[in-house]
Amino acid sequence: MSDLPVMPSAGLYTVPAAGARDPRPGLAGLEPSALTDWMVEHGERAFRGRQVADAIWAHGAVDVASVQTLPGALRRDLAAEFRADTLVETVVRSADGGLTEKALHRLDDGRLVESVLMRYPARGARRERATACISSQAGCAVGCPFCATGELGYLRDLETAEIVDQARYWRRRLAAEGRRLSNVVFMGMGEPLLNAARVLAAAEALADPRRFGLGARHITISTSGVVPGLERLVALAPSYTLAVSLHAARPALRDVLVPLNRRYPVERVVALADAYARATGRRVSYEVVLIDGINDTPGDALALANLVHGQLAHVNLIPMNPVAHTAWRPSAPARLEAFADVLRSAGVTTTVRQNRGVEIGAACGQLAAEQATSPSSAAVARRHELLARRSAAALRPT
Ligand code: SAH
Ligand code: SF4
Repeated sequence: MSDLPVMPSAGLYTVPAAGARDPRPGLAGLEPSALTDWMVEHGERAFRGRQVADAIWAHGAVDVASVQTLPGALRRDLAAEFRADTLVETVVRSADGGLTEKALHRLDDGRLVESVLMRYPARGARRERATACISSQAGCAVGCPFCATGELGYLRDLETAEIVDQARYWRRRLAAEGRRLSNVVFMGMGEPLLNAARVLAAAEALADPRRFGLGARHITISTSGVVPGLERLVALAPSYTLAVSLHAARPALRDVLVPLNRRYPVERVVALADAYARATGRRVSYEVVLIDGINDTPGDALALANLVHGQLAHVNLIPMNPVAHTAWRPSAPARLEAFADVLRSAGVTTTVRQNRGVEIGAACGQLAAEQATSPSSAAVARRHELLARRSAAALRPT
């Protein structure tokens, strides 16, 4: 990648320019009926479509050329028109004694996206689980100041197959150990509801018993609060778990922490999340990354309790993972507990989540900007100052 020209991104980092796209769609992004139609158009019998679909979704199969039951000419035609796997190359690093693994995937145009596997060993009667945290975009346009992906700026949307192939990657890897993938969460790079059509198509493929077969209840879509996307989810009412990244209940502070709040106000976001809970009967999860001295005061906890009180919801508190471009730090454990106590006393179900894989920057949702060059210390200092000014203004009592 070092010979590629460097292009400035919207954030602090500089990101290598992308190469040309491979025009062939990924097979995992196709509906089985589209494959059947393709067969018929190519003078093949329709059942071959099902055969290829089975090969795509079977554990371990990546390459249609290896499906021996297909005629050779058909295999060549398929390979000329489609890609069996859209992840060109994947490098994996592990942490937490192998409980957390982070994959860096290279796409056809050289863009890099990350996904994370979190393993949860069996505990008592509870069976072991494995959750893949996958990306929906390269970079992200929302620009939450505590998030490494936000600092990259928006690079591009992922195709449906590029999203699904991340889950297929982890399922193959687990299958090789005799294990299964139990959950998929859209908490990697990108804002899923700013790439809603492809994310919803990918989630459908992952849930579909005839395709990936995970079941809708094992899929979580996390959003920073994109109103049109939420409206679409409410209308569709699938059984996915909805996670809303709230981070602050007070609008002035949320404007700083989740800049999208200026366009889609928090009250509207929460009303739609509540409508989703009522339409689906599924409990919404409100995510709050706690940042020392910024959004972790008792006043913030009360404002949050007032906002979500009485809903089919729970709050998930996450200590912020430190990132290079801000001086912000995670709240101390005692402050985190005090915050949780305020919520619980107000009758709001609250959990405190410990971040995984901090030492490899693999904590889900805080994926390191590996494709980028390090920002200069002067640029980081300027950014620290700007954030300090903005948050001080937002924190001023009103
Ligand atoms: N864009 C979506 C999904 C990807 S981010 C969203 O914002 O919901 C997934 C989660 O990781 C979000 O809740 C996000 O706030 C969180 N996250 C981002 N940066 C983090 C950090 N530095 N420490 C802890 N959590 C972080
Ligand atoms: Fe985008 Fe989510 Fe990061 Fe915000 S937290 S910048 S929405 S990926």
